[in-house]
Amino acid sequence: MPELPEVETIARGLDKRVSGDRIESVWIGNKPEPLKSPAAVIAKTLERTRIEQVRRVGKHIVFDLKAAKVKEARQWIVHLGMTGRMLVAPPEADLADHTHLIARLASGRELRFVDPRRFGRLEVRVGSFAGPGTEPLQVQVEEFMQLFRTRKAPIKAALLNQKLLHGVGNIYADESLFRAGIRPRRRATSITRAEYAKLHHALQKVLKEAITAGGSSVSDYVDANGEEGFFQLQHRVYGREGEPCLVCKRPIKKIVVGGRGTHYCPKCQR
Ligand SMILES: [Zn+2]
Repeated sequence: MPELPEVETIARGLDKRVSGDRIESVWIGNKPEPLKSPAAVIAKTLERTRIEQVRRVGKHIVFDLKAAKVKEARQWIVHLGMTGRMLVAPPEADLADHTHLIARLASGRELRFVDPRRFGRLEVRVGSFAGPGTEPLQVQVEEFMQLFRTRKAPIKAALLNQKLLHGVGNIYADESLFRAGIRPRRRATSITRAEYAKLHHALQKVLKEAITAGGSSVSDYVDANGEEGFFQLQHRVYGREGEPCLVCKRPIKKIVVGGRGTHYCPKCQR
């Protein structure tokens, strides 16, 4: 499942490839699941617009679109779900199974949305899309503390609460708690200001490192001939149950917090 850094990488890759291009026409398949807006509305909103930019909001890819002689901004919002991909393809490229949408561009290329498991979502909006929650890469340390300090939930569960921070997933929650030395089960109310400052720093750092790591492999995600699969940062705790902690050599523990598999070091995290 793509997490925030992957979505950021994909959005940047798409922005580089298709910004400035125009969507001329749109084909939409007959599977209803990926369509959060009605098919006819999606087609009408996308057709004959210029792609101003592509950016990430939380775990969404947002295409900012501009129609001629229309003042109001409009957006095409794509959520990749578990297996969704947005591909930039020459028209002669083989059509992948489970292609749900094709936007034909003035440049002759196509933007294709492919999603075998159909947990991805396509939506259009008029106006501006900010998404729920606060953006983890933009939030300042003071606001970050205010979001969590009054929460009785374990800090791990609070980090995953998308109404607070938008886009932090399981891997990056575990990794940032490890780097900050905080146990995932601790209540958010019990965490000190100094610890919150560490956590804020660790979260932004781990997300930025993953984005940097993904930059070189962006072609794998957005070009039709790219290989499938998501890059992974070298995880320090996530998925390393029973393996020695990279700092203290104690085995990494796995527990369940807020229904999610959670990894931590019992010695390094307090
Ligand atoms: Zn350790």
